[in-house]
Amino acid sequence: MTTRSGRHFLQIPGPTSVPDRVLRAIAQPTIDHRGPDFAELGLDVLERVKPVFGTSGPVIIFPSSGTGAWEAALVNTLSPGDRVLAFETGHFATLWRAMAEGLGLEVDFVAGDWRRGVDPNVVAERLAEDTTHSIAAVMVVHNETSTGVTSRVPEIRAAIDQAGHPALLFVDTISSLGSIDYRHEEWGVDVTISCSQKGLMLPPGLGFNAVSEKALAATERARLPRSYWDWTPILEANERGYWPYTPATNMLYGLKEALLMLEEEGLPNVFARHDRHAEATRAAVRGWGLEVLCADEREYSSVLTAVLLGEEHDADKIRQIILDRFDMSLGTGLSKLAGRVFRIGHLGHFNDLTLAGTLAGVQMGLELAGVAIDPGGLSAALELLRAE
Ligand SMILES: *Cc1c(COP(=O)(O)O)cnc(C)c1O
Repeated sequence: MTTRSGRHFLQIPGPTSVPDRVLRAIAQPTIDHRGPDFAELGLDVLERVKPVFGTSGPVIIFPSSGTGAWEAALVNTLSPGDRVLAFETGHFATLWRAMAEGLGLEVDFVAGDWRRGVDPNVVAERLAEDTTHSIAAVMVVHNETSTGVTSRVPEIRAAIDQAGHPALLFVDTISSLGSIDYRHEEWGVDVTISCSQKGLMLPPGLGFNAVSEKALAATERARLPRSYWDWTPILEANERGYWPYTPATNMLYGLKEALLMLEEEGLPNVFARHDRHAEATRAAVRGWGLEVLCADEREYSSVLTAVLLGEEHDADKIRQIILDRFDMSLGTGLSKLAGRVFRIGHLGHFNDLTLAGTLAGVQMGLELAGVAIDPGGLSAALELLRAE
């Protein structure tokens, strides 16, 4: 391995780069998770995390990946054979479907072309057809990280209400939380699923479920087997700032620091910063003469941009050149999109010059790979960054 100077550019859409403040907070001695100091930390983070979800209700924190938080949402609320409505928006929605099937649920999976989000009209149609109310839940990935497409959750909520359907609404905000405007309570979401290593600027290791009263009521009837993921004992222990098993103590130190950083910047400013960087990135892509994968401008993602290449190019080769020459990691094309796209993450601990450096690396990599681009792409992005 060759020695590299300077910081690696980790421009994948999660895990994202962890701020020094957060790293220092994590590097504290681990304390007794049954002791009084822990309770103070536990109570603090359990309260402080709520505004990021846009909720006044409970947020359950697991020592887990995001996938674990998905499983928690399903097993706490549903029973074997329950029907769920899901949408093929991309790789993560497809994985979530597979999990639901693996747990013994029946999934109505609406096909998609991986360039668009969940169509609220289809939600309304499918639920209106379900006159016996056999669909127990609607599963939506807010920001589809494999495609750079953000579904419009308020319109999906309105579609469910319009159909007068009692289905629960589950939303995966794993790559949107703390980066794109999100409102668990106002949008009537029943379980919001998230995790630590994307917009929350932490290493991987924490999973989250924000839950509504309706979701809590559903746990009483839910018969899927649950043990580790069971909300009830966690909520009981959380009342005093504790967990029923050993929590990820040092990650909670980091969570507190990351939440302080989001508070200091102010969530509206955080969201505006992400919107602006995404717009500058799209200006670069168009300036290069390349195509953004997302096909509907209402659904552009503010946390990542997937760049679609012509059949003659291998996106992974370009990523390799950029990694070897400029020490920058970009997101790979997942499953159906392998080799066809690369993904630029512009989320989390990120500023104008991080973006300028990222786009400069991408432009040089494209040129080195022999992709015919207009080098005006980078200037188009810089112009936007300078203007505002
Ligand atoms: C990253 C991601 C996941 C998977 O999270 P893990 O922590 O790897 O389990 C799921 N959904 C979305 C939208 C993601 O971006």
